[in-house]
Parts: sequence; structure tokens; C-alpha cells
Amino acid sequence: MDMKTKMIWMDGKFVRWHNAKVHILTHAIHYGSAVFEGIHSYKTENGTAIFRLEDHISRLFTSANAMGMKLKFSKQQLKKSILKLVKANKMEDAYIRPIAYYGYGNIGVYPKNVPTNIALITVPWEHYYSKNLRIKTSRYTRHSEKETVYGTKISGNYANSILAMHEARKHGFDEALMLDDDGFVAEGPAENFFAVKNKRLATPNSRSALPGITRKTILEISKDLGIKAYEKKITLNEAKNADELFFCGTATEIAPITYVDNKKIGSGKAGETTTNIKSAYSDIVRGKTRKYEKWLTYAD
Ligand code: PMP
Repeated sequence: MDMKTKMIWMDGKFVRWHNAKVHILTHAIHYGSAVFEGIHSYKTENGTAIFRLEDHISRLFTSANAMGMKLKFSKQQLKKSILKLVKANKMEDAYIRPIAYYGYGNIGVYPKNVPTNIALITVPWEHYYSKNLRIKTSRYTRHSEKETVYGTKISGNYANSILAMHEARKHGFDEALMLDDDGFVAEGPAENFFAVKNKRLATPNSRSALPGITRKTILEISKDLGIKAYEKKITLNEAKNADELFFCGTATEIAPITYVDNKKIGSGKAGETTTNIKSAYSDIVRGKTRKYEKWLTYAD
């Protein structure tokens, strides 16, 4: 994938792609002491639109707070800078990555006298997955509130996701399914999880799952589609015996899961409810559903 764009925004300045560098003593490289977001922009009839920008920026601040970082820019300034960057790079369908990180200042774990830097990156984006997924239950559990702060995207926490992905790929699967400490389904390495049974939608209420913005969107729009949706504990057995399963997330959007550990789910194809949600979601993010125009921020 060619990720190259013209500009990257670093600490208030637009810098050329090749000059967007950090020092090897950057604290975040050593300890995963960064927080980040993944945001999606879409080509629409009215120009490039960013989906739920406000929610993503809010979560970035929640994550930064949890890590004791003081950002030098306000939410408003960051939102404006994202819009400027999207325009400068002439982005349409793109993934936008804000990342705040402890920078250069000290080699110890405790980030004393270490500045917080922040960067904004845009990457041209096609579909993450265009096929149905085969997933493997991971031997690694997702972080609980005993190990991290609920609702945050802290870089260091993703080592856990990487381990699960390596394990899944080594065994010939596309993705991992991660359980929580109590053995209930939590989420994927970077996606939330939904199960459909008798046309009803359920998603884990596990405190080990990120309260994802796509997940929230699906819960909010399901009513319009006449689908009942719940947050509940989901066992692995329930998941394997569901009629349909899918992962969702900003990058992934909605990705049908058709196998869990070699157990075929439903008919082994993307199900009707999943397909309906996928198409409703696609209309919303592309600005085709007036009711949810409020979730779009246009760059032009
Ligand atoms: N869980 C994890 C661990 C993630 O990294 C993501 C991606 N941000 C998600 C779920 C989905 O969240 P969202 O819909 O906000 O992208």
C-alpha cells in the first residue's frame, strides 16, 4: 500500500512526508507511551467528509488524560488542523491518524520532563477487508481494567493485539477473537464484535472491549432498520452458534465473520442482517442519509 502523501502535521507545522521524523530516544518508541485515533474520511457528493470527528477527538483527549499527557492544542485546533491537512493532501477516502506521544527528554519509564508531541497523518484508504473473515480464538486475553484504563487507545496496549494477530496468521486465520479475563468474548485486535441470532443483534458489554465509535453507530442506527440490538455478555459458545457474526471498526467498517476456529457460522456466507447494516452504514458515511448528516464534517 502506498501511504505517501504530501504533508504531515507535526506540533502545529505542516512538514513534508520525508521530513516527518522523530529521534530514537522518543519515549513512545521505548514504552508505547502514545495515544492515538483512527478516523475515516469519505468521498461524498459534497466533497470529502470526516465521519464522527467530534467523537474521535473526544476519545483522543480521554486517552491523553489517562496517560497524564497535556496536549498543546485544543480540540478545536486539532479539528481545524485535520480539515486543513485533508485538504492539503487532497484526501478523499482516507484514514486519519492523530497520535500524541511522549517525546524526547528522558530514558526512564516515568515520563518526567518529557514533552508531549502530537502529529496528524492521512493515508489514502481503500477497503480494509473485502472478503469474509475466518477468525481464531486467541490464547491472549484483551486487557481488563486491572491492566489499563477503559475506553482508551494507548499504543502500548496494542502489543497484546499484535501477539494475537501473529498467532492467528500463523495458524492460517485472518484475524483473532479476543476474550476477557472471565472468558467472555471481548473484541478483535482492533475491531468490535457483533453476533446476530434470530435477527437480533448483540455486542459484548465487556469492559475489556473498546467502546468503539462504529459499534456505537450500529447500536444507534439499528432501530431505523427494525433490528433489536443489545449489549450483553457473550460466551464463545454463543458466538459459535450465532446465525451471523461480524467485526466493525473505523478502518474495517463492517466485516462478516464466517468461521470461528473452523466452526462455520450460519450458512458460511455474509448474512442478511450483516449485509443490511453494512449497506446502511455505507450510505451514512457517504452522506446519503439526511438523518445522520450530523455525523459528517466536510473538509471543503
Ligand atoms: N477495538 C479496538 C481494540 C480498536 O483498536 C478499535 C479501532 N479503534 C475498535 C475496537 C473499533 O473502534 P472504532 O469503531 O471507534 O474505530
